[in-house]
Formats: sequence, structure tokens, C-alpha cells
Amino acid sequence: MHIMKEAMLYEKLAEGKVRCNLCAHRCVISDGKKGICQVRENRGGTLYTLVYGHTIIQHVDPVEKKPLFHFYPGSTAYSIATSGCNFRCHWCQNWDISQIVHDRRFIIGEEASTEQVVAAAQKADCRSIAYTYTEPTIFFEYAYDTARLWLEVTTLVIPGINDGDGELKDTANFVAEELGVDTPWHISRFFPDYKMTDVPPTPIETLDRAREIGLEAGLRYVYVGNVPGEANTVCHKCGQILIRRLGYRILENRVQPNGRCPNCDMPVAGVGMG
Ligand code: SF4
Repeated sequence: MHIMKEAMLYEKLAEGKVRCNLCAHRCVISDGKKGICQVRENRGGTLYTLVYGHTIIQHVDPVEKKPLFHFYPGSTAYSIATSGCNFRCHWCQNWDISQIVHDRRFIIGEEASTEQVVAAAQKADCRSIAYTYTEPTIFFEYAYDTARLWLEVTTLVIPGINDGDGELKDTANFVAEELGVDTPWHISRFFPDYKMTDVPPTPIETLDRAREIGLEAGLRYVYVGNVPGEANTVCHKCGQILIRRLGYRILENRVQPNGRCPNCDMPVAGVGMG
């Protein structure tokens, strides 16, 4: 039995239709129909979210796995998702969560109120709650009721899809200009999965080139993800290694308790860094 909660960010139209303004699809939905994401439904001229309080997964992850490198390094994040997605990407790395509603035509998961999610996160000693594994826009109301803002951006770089210099520059410039140069940008390696098994993993050289493009755009913290080896946070002013990581594990954290570089006293962007 799903909790029926009226959706946010929609408008009522003539003839019992509604327009959902939650994402760029701007679905116009007739009575009894669902939007492209399959988890928002028009019932009698009112738009409802079908996944509020209904998680398909609850999991404790290292915050570095999200990936968030500038938010309580070394802590754990209570990761939740509902089923459904407003994208149909053939390269989805979490398709058994995001595409299950499209592929099997039903919503699965467990009831979990926002209070229960917060309590479970606290019990597991997590410093944060991560809305993850699918495009969290589609469970906006659920996330909104439990969320506090933080922000790091991840781009999955796929050979032949979005690995050209022009697109990478556009993405890096967007992050730098619209979100700010202190926004960490994670460039994530693609592996063949779901319906895109005919494309090889992203070459390491492509990821390194993307990182250079990010730095040239002025971004201060650019990371290559989904590859073996170290992914360190470096002071953008003096070059001092601040946090040494191997995979998702922190080997050393030199950030001062006041959140500054121990060498040049430059503030390090993020929350709970020291
Ligand atoms: S969130 Fe779903 S219903 Fe709303 S516009 Fe996007 S795809 Fe359509």
C-alpha cells in the first residue's frame, strides 16, 4: 500500500490535465496517466507522487563512494533511493533500481517514513543522508522533507557519448560559472552495463584529459573516479596534499580543525573537512 502524497511543483490545466514542472520533460498528464518517470500520477486532476516514503534501497556507504570528497571525509552516508527515473539511459550503472518501473511496470520497495530514515541514519552513526542510485529528482518530495543542501557534481564519461573536448568544456564551464569554482567535480569512469555492453570502459587518458579541462575551467577540486589508485584533495593555492585517499579509504587527513590548509592557511571548501 503506497502512501499517496500530493506532488509539489505542478500546475492544474484544463480538462483535468496537469503539467508536472519537476524536471525538463514538463509532462502534461491526463487523468489516470503517469509521467515519463512512471512514479507521478494524475488522479482526478491532482498529481501524486507514488514513491513518497517507499524506498527500494537503504544502505550505509562511505561518503567517498557517493562520491563526496568535501563533506565529512571518512564518514558514512545513509544512502536511499526509490524506484523510478526520468532518464532511460542505456548505460545506466544502477538500472535494477532506476529502470525497474519501466521494465517490470510496478513499484517495489519498503515503507519508510522520513522520520524512520533519519532515525536509521542516526542509529548507523551516519553523518549524512545521500539521495542516490537513481535520479533523485523523481522522489523530490521525499528528499525535500529530509534534506539539507550540499553539493558535489559527478559526470559519467562514456566513450563516443560525452567524451569530446567540447562537451567536457561546456560541463566544466557550467560547474565553474553556475555552481562556483569550489564545487568538487568528479569525473567517473564508465563500465559496460545494462543495455550498453558494446562500449568499452572509458580510457584512463580520457579521464585525465577531462580533469585537465576541469582545472583549465578554473575548478579547484577535480577528481577522477571509478579507477584504482589514489584520489587526493590538494590545496588549490600551495599544492599541499590535504587528504590522501586510496579508493574510498582515507589514509591521511591534514586539514586543520578550522578547515584550513596547514601549509598556507587557505580555507578548504566543504563541510566538516578537518
Ligand atoms: S518528474 Fe516525472 S512526471 Fe514530472 S516532468 Fe519529470 S518525467 Fe514528467
